[in-house]
Amino acid sequence: HRQFGHSHSLVYQPELTQYDQDKLSLMAELQQAIDAQQLKLHIQPQLSLTDHKVLAGEVLIRWHHPRRGLLGPDQFLPLAEQMGVIYPLTRWVLERAVQLLAQLQQQQLHCQIAVNLSSKDLLQDELVDTVELLLKKYQVPASLLILELKESALVAEPELALRTLHHLSQLGIELALDDFGTGFSSLAYLRELPIQQVKVDCSFVFDLHRSDTHSAITGAIIDIAKNLQFTVVAEGIEQQEVEQKLLAMGCSRGQGYLYAKPFALDTFVPWMQQWGY
Ligand code: C2E
Ligand code: CA
Ligand code: CA
Ligand code: CA
Repeated sequence: HRQFGHSHSLVYQPELTQYDQDKLSLMAELQQAIDAQQLKLHIQPQLSLTDHKVLAGEVLIRWHHPRRGLLGPDQFLPLAEQMGVIYPLTRWVLERAVQLLAQLQQQQLHCQIAVNLSSKDLLQDELVDTVELLLKKYQVPASLLILELKESALVAEPELALRTLHHLSQLGIELALDDFGTGFSSLAYLRELPIQQVKVDCSFVFDLHRSDTHSAITGAIIDIAKNLQFTVVAEGIEQQEVEQKLLAMGCSRGQGYLYAKPFALDTFVPWMQQWGY
């Protein structure tokens, strides 16, 4: 039956409550998912576009949910961030990443590993200590770890977030600005950030060979980034022609399905032994 009351909230409340309960139960499950080994890490190689040597691997999370099936990060991370349960997850990803770096070193495979940080992570005061302790525990040089953050990470509490970035940078970690060009990037503050890398968002890269607009935007980002002495990384390279255009524009580092789709993190060492240098 339908009710045409004057109060819309009365009519829609049950629906909202159901939705909220669903979100709440998903987040309650997320907190157990690590222990239940439902969270899986994938990794995508990042290559030199000039000689196709592997320079780094970016760690990407997935959730094999027992009832909902395979969930991509976009299906649960924004909610986890909103509900304040993301930091334990980040800490877990960081440990796996540093462990992998130790394994790579044992095999004399030289490459960096990149971990995505959520905006909320920069407001956690333990983050810097955790990273420092992990690097000590596994005896991994800080320069092999890359931490990626989005421009939005600085919006809520810019001073606190910036302080965290400076502390991370002082450890010798490399910092990358992710999804560059999609947020509220102010070019003025870009030079104030202790970052070394800028990642051109895949939405500009996918059709670079066919879109004059995306080509112009990417070209501008590359020029600015190079002027400020940042490394430029293009993500979402799917076509040979895109690689050629990027090289012509002066971008020599990238990742994308053209080279490799993300694959299970556990198989990265053997993959490197076979394909890496
Ligand atoms: P991102 O950091 O921008 O990661 C790149 C995304 O583009 C990944 O999606 C990757 O699989 C996809 N990609 C890479 N190359 C190509 C390509 O050539 N074609 C296409 N179509 N896609 C490509 P994914 O794995 O679904 O991750 C989505 C986002 O979730 C990531 O975007 C990142 O912001 C976030 N994320 C993933 N793992 C983590 C994590 O452990 N922690 C946090 N805080 N965020 C994460
Ligand atoms: Ca990223
Ligand atoms: Ca990105
Ligand atoms: Ca993205």
